[in-house]
Amino acid sequence: MEIGDRYHSLDAAIYPWFEDQWHRVVRLHNDKHLPHALLLSGMPGIGKARLAEAIAGYVMCHRPQSLKACGQCRSCILLNSSGHPDLYFLRPEETGKPIKVDQVRQLTEFMHNTAQQGGYRIVVLEPAEFMNISAANALLKTLEEPGRDTLLILITHQLGQVLPTVRSRCQRLDCHPPSETVAVEWLSQQLSVDAQEALQLLNVVHGAPLTGLSFKKQGHQALRADFLTALRDILRQRKTPVEVAGEFLKADLDLLLGWLQGLLADVVRILLLDSDELIRNMDMQKMLKGIAKNSTKVKIFTLADLVQVERLGLQRRQNPNKQLLLERILIDWSALVRS
Ligand SMILES: [Zn+2]
Repeated sequence: MEIGDRYHSLDAAIYPWFEDQWHRVVRLHNDKHLPHALLLSGMPGIGKARLAEAIAGYVMCHRPQSLKACGQCRSCILLNSSGHPDLYFLRPEETGKPIKVDQVRQLTEFMHNTAQQGGYRIVVLEPAEFMNISAANALLKTLEEPGRDTLLILITHQLGQVLPTVRSRCQRLDCHPPSETVAVEWLSQQLSVDAQEALQLLNVVHGAPLTGLSFKKQGHQALRADFLTALRDILRQRKTPVEVAGEFLKADLDLLLGWLQGLLADVVRILLLDSDELIRNMDMQKMLKGIAKNSTKVKIFTLADLVQVERLGLQRRQNPNKQLLLERILIDWSALVRS
């Protein structure tokens, strides 16, 4: 069980791009129409977890103000300090593994206990698309017979993969990424960089501002630069795919494949739109144009599909052979410009 282990300060503002969603939930709660289960869906890296936490804080607050938790009641103080006994986070026990049935059973127990602070009991479950069948079935029971004053907040990054039976028992709250203007403004403020640098960063992370933030903070930029250099070296036959796969064995494979996907999407844009104005990876223009010129549509689309499939597979598979997987993709990459 994990209680309150990732609560952000209640004082933190709602992300500007989630104001509509926030108002909607606040209104539902004030009108006493809050459902037992909410399903927050949207792409990764836009702040859904933080929104879920803010909703939990508001619903548990004993003296909520018009649009935010009071910050001073016992519930708010608990949330802001050690964690709240009536708030429960449920996530896979290990990264890359699904949520297990035992975890869901613990949750059911929690939902049917009396709230220690006399208000709501709230569960934040993430990611809703990633649990094994028995866990999903156990969750269905909870969704069908929720206790009184309980709220289950499910978070999904891939709505299409949430079981329809689970989906249909939740009220959906669609979370869209911010517009480019809003995201650039927010990110440049957070990182104290100019708009151009913020835009460049956003383009690399598919427009997800929080991914952009952690990207910069965790030094992913250096990793990306190394990976792109290695990709270029493969095309120039300075390095073999096997060598490069070995070099990046310890890196986050999903991250690498995400970048590769972004590059291939750019090549497709150049080919289909016959223009390089829409390239996202502006720093790689020359290489991307070279591929578009010297490769074939079939090769490019086949590789893009392969990367997409492997990325999805990565999220489900227990133990992929990372070296082999990356080698296979890089061999196709090297073949893009060779007959
Ligand atoms: Zn309060």
